[in-house]
Amino acid sequence: MPNVSMGIHRNRHCLPYAAKVGGSSQSDDLVLTKPVGSGGATRGPDVLKVQRALNLAPHDKGGPSPKLAETGVADAKTIAAIHAFQRFHFGKSDGRIDVMGRSHAKLSSLQPAKIKRMEMAKNYLAQAMQCMRAAETGILGAGVELMTGGGLMGTRNLNLVDKHFDVRKSANPAAALGHIGAVYAKMLAVFARPGGLWGWQAFEAEPFTNPDFYAFTWWGGFSRSGDYAGWQRLDTIYLSAFYDKATDDNRIQTIVHELAHFVGPTSGDLIYDYAYGQQSAPQMKALSPYQKQHNAESFGNYAFEAQFGRAPL
Ligand SMILES: [Zn+2]
Repeated sequence: MPNVSMGIHRNRHCLPYAAKVGGSSQSDDLVLTKPVGSGGATRGPDVLKVQRALNLAPHDKGGPSPKLAETGVADAKTIAAIHAFQRFHFGKSDGRIDVMGRSHAKLSSLQPAKIKRMEMAKNYLAQAMQCMRAAETGILGAGVELMTGGGLMGTRNLNLVDKHFDVRKSANPAAALGHIGAVYAKMLAVFARPGGLWGWQAFEAEPFTNPDFYAFTWWGGFSRSGDYAGWQRLDTIYLSAFYDKATDDNRIQTIVHELAHFVGPTSGDLIYDYAYGQQSAPQMKALSPYQKQHNAESFGNYAFEAQFGRAPL
């Protein structure tokens, strides 16, 4: 389903991400009922919330310095701080935080608990990258084993790839290996591009809390640089509230899983969610070779096992 962003649900069932969610008072989401700033509310509780949220946003992420007086009145300094925040992130400004608009989402993603999540997640990114590199190495080894029949070295790499992707059951095993290897190469390329959005900048905390999701992204976001659907950036992988409660293994695997969607095509042979769970789960084993080779969970599981020698727990 192109043009529908998907998340990994905590129960491992992908659901369309509930983008209608306007934020949760149980979190540090910025919850607004009316636009604030130029042409919007200039006094009242929503103005106070915006002032607080701007003050809590790090200065190196567009927050004001010195901090605003939290008065509930959108004075000239408050409007200027909104302009500065917008110019920092979008290169242009209108001085107003619209409800569920891009500025609202960005400001809500930069609140303390969200920043903390991203700092925590970054530790797992390094391990996820080791998994992707182990996968790339394993695929190369499997390619050699496929050509040579393994010889004295056996087919250890090919066997592990087969366990997750059934390449030997494909019409063209070499082409299937090539496809799988290209997906991991593209994932690693996300972190090879210098500066700008790319690398870790492709990840962001979800602005409006949905406690049932690990993460969500857009099909083929890698090639959708700068595109939006409402507040959602299509070139971004959002880490959701449940990521905070996931196991270490799932935090690593989720990053690889989401990157598989992210670097896949925007239409046609999508990297899809055909099934979830460990490779040994019945619903995973039941997939066809094609489905396994286009299943985000399989990409996450294989990379994890290539690195750690076991399934994610
Ligand atoms: Zn998925």
